[in-house]
Amino acid sequence: MGRYTDASCRQCRREGVRLFLKGDRCYTAKCAVTKRKTPPGMIPKFRKKPTEYAVQLREKQKVKRYYGLLERQFRKYFETASQLKGITGILLLQILERRLDNVVYRVGFAASRKAARQFVGHGHIQINGKKVDIPSYLLKIGDVITLADKGAKMTIVDEALSKVENRVVPVWLEADYKKKSVKVLHIPEKAEMALEVEINEPLIVELYSK
Ligand code: SF4
Repeated sequence: MGRYTDASCRQCRREGVRLFLKGDRCYTAKCAVTKRKTPPGMIPKFRKKPTEYAVQLREKQKVKRYYGLLERQFRKYFETASQLKGITGILLLQILERRLDNVVYRVGFAASRKAARQFVGHGHIQINGKKVDIPSYLLKIGDVITLADKGAKMTIVDEALSKVENRVVPVWLEADYKKKSVKVLHIPEKAEMALEVEINEPLIVELYSK
């Protein structure tokens, strides 16, 4: 599977917002976006007003990086969303939120989406009692995610869970921290997603619809 090789903090600095790619560090004053407000690389002395296209492109890049996806994957999700009935931008976010790696991160079983992806890939997750090692697996209403025996005993899970107060667990997920399980209650509306970054999804739709 392809992946970003650019340093996580550079991605945030490029987008000018915290994308929470590094776990605990993102909640501290050590966060690179807090320390350095400028984008990485050379900075022109005079910045022109960004074009409409540039604004749309940055929004798409920001969301893509937030979820840790590559262009091809992200575009595929957009195409799936555009074929469904409803508001394409919201449907796109709903698909992204339903990814297994996202849910594992959102409930605090892993410190970041990257860590969640690794955790899933190593076979530590079960859905409805069956092992699933595909981070992009799309969850459905009623699915119950549990940690496989080995996963449940791992110290990185306990460490991540000890800092769960940093996270807002979205209301569409019901987490049981004693059992280390989570249930998908419904497909979330945007307001229920508890997104950590502001997302203007119509800009992405406009960009891809050109
Ligand atoms: Fe780095 Fe996290 Fe801050 Fe992003 S939010 S700049 S990944 S510390």
